[in-house]
Amino acid sequence: MADYDVIIIGSGPAGLTAAIYAGRALVKTLVVGGRLSGGQLMLTTGVENFPGFSEAVQGPDLMTEIRKQAERFGAEIVNEDAESVDFSTKPFKVSAGNKVHTAKAVIIATGSSAKWLGLPSETTMRGKGVSSCATCDGYFFRGKKVVVVGGGDTALEEALFLTKYATEVVVVHRRGELRASKILQRRAMSNEKIRFAWNSVVQEILGEQKVEGVKLRNVTTGEISIATCDGVFVAIGHDPNTGIFTRQIALDDKGYILTQQRTKTSVEGVFVAGDVHDYRYRQAVTAAGEGCRAAIDALTYIEEQKEVTVAAREN
Ligand code: NAP
Repeated sequence: MADYDVIIIGSGPAGLTAAIYAGRALVKTLVVGGRLSGGQLMLTTGVENFPGFSEAVQGPDLMTEIRKQAERFGAEIVNEDAESVDFSTKPFKVSAGNKVHTAKAVIIATGSSAKWLGLPSETTMRGKGVSSCATCDGYFFRGKKVVVVGGGDTALEEALFLTKYATEVVVVHRRGELRASKILQRRAMSNEKIRFAWNSVVQEILGEQKVEGVKLRNVTTGEISIATCDGVFVAIGHDPNTGIFTRQIALDDKGYILTQQRTKTSVEGVFVAGDVHDYRYRQAVTAAGEGCRAAIDALTYIEEQKEVTVAAREN
């Protein structure tokens, strides 16, 4: 006998949308939401591309509303990290906060986390001027100069956000062309506080008690230069949060969860939604859509299992 019909691991747009659908289907639902619940939108400012908001909505406000919506339909949400899972026997087991929860079906929606450059100086200077979240730490750089590393949407959003506080924002990108969407490129290029260091990588972050600059290497010419700055924001993409699933379900070579058919994983009864398997679209709205799909697939699976049990009893 399982404690829950479905356990959803993760509380970003994917997990909470799955919870809304499961709750409205009147199945007993637990969301293991993580100690930092809400996912990556908790670290963003204005979200302009989530349908339903003619003006930008703040990421944390959007997540608070989605969470309330999930709770309204009966989903139980715990702010604990899932520490381990056991998908080898049914009911499935999910351990979180010193408790083992069991369920007939599981939806994995653990998302992804910011990548780091991997420099020793980056690790030692974290919290001393090195950050991966402009929304969280931008305020500390009022009247200062900062560097943003990366050439995607996140890097340019961070750079644009930081212009509210900083006197100058230098975007360091390893190529001569940005990956970011055209609209963000236009905004960044026309912002007089933003300048670009093209074809460049950060070789070292300088400073002892706090960040004082970065050593840059031009990858085309090999030239080394120093850019003085007070902060470094790393915005170079994300890694999937799949550490606890490595020996439980099939992952690809980058650690993203592989799907077999629709939202099904390699384990029957375990489904997936959002950035933890989707490295292509990675949008709040696509994650929410996938949460809906995974919930519908999980609900169908639970119904099918009931029919199998009834048929077995009748025979
Ligand atoms: P991303 O699109 O994967 O871009 C990562 C950037 O970092 C790329 O420019 C990449 O360079 C660079 N990079 C990667 N590894 C590096 C390294 N070791 N050293 C230096 N540079 C490195 O990641 P993202 O910007 O986080 O965006 C992820 C997804 O979320 C995208 O689909 C994006 O559209 C979406 N997103 C959307 C919005 C929005 O619509 N408002 C906001 C944020 C994110 P290369 O270009 O050379 O590969």
